[in-house]
Amino acid sequence: MPLYEFMCAKCGSREEVFSRTVQTDIVAPKCAHAGKEPGHDMRRIVSKFAQHKTMADQLAEAEAKFGQEVDAAMGPEPDVGRLARRYESLAKDLPE
Ligand SMILES: [Zn+2]
Repeated sequence: MPLYEFMCAKCGSREEVFSRTVQTDIVAPKCAHAGKEPGHDMRRIVSKFAQHKTMADQLAEAEAKFGQEVDAAMGPEPDVGRLARRYESLAKDLPE
């Protein structure tokens, strides 16, 4: 089931037309600006191919894009040993 893409020759707005069958004479949609001024004719364009990525690819991409930002927001890693000793000393006075 193909998806046809159209782009306005004047303003560049894009529309997608979904079709249940492969058609050679598909009717172009109207540009949202058509009627207000001439020249907003939609022309069919070549669609980009979908690229399927694995979860590992998506994670690597997210790490490259947001990794530094997330690290900055999280701050330095906690000293787990120091926290454990602190909780242990605080827990000494607690009743059973
Ligand atoms: Zn237009």
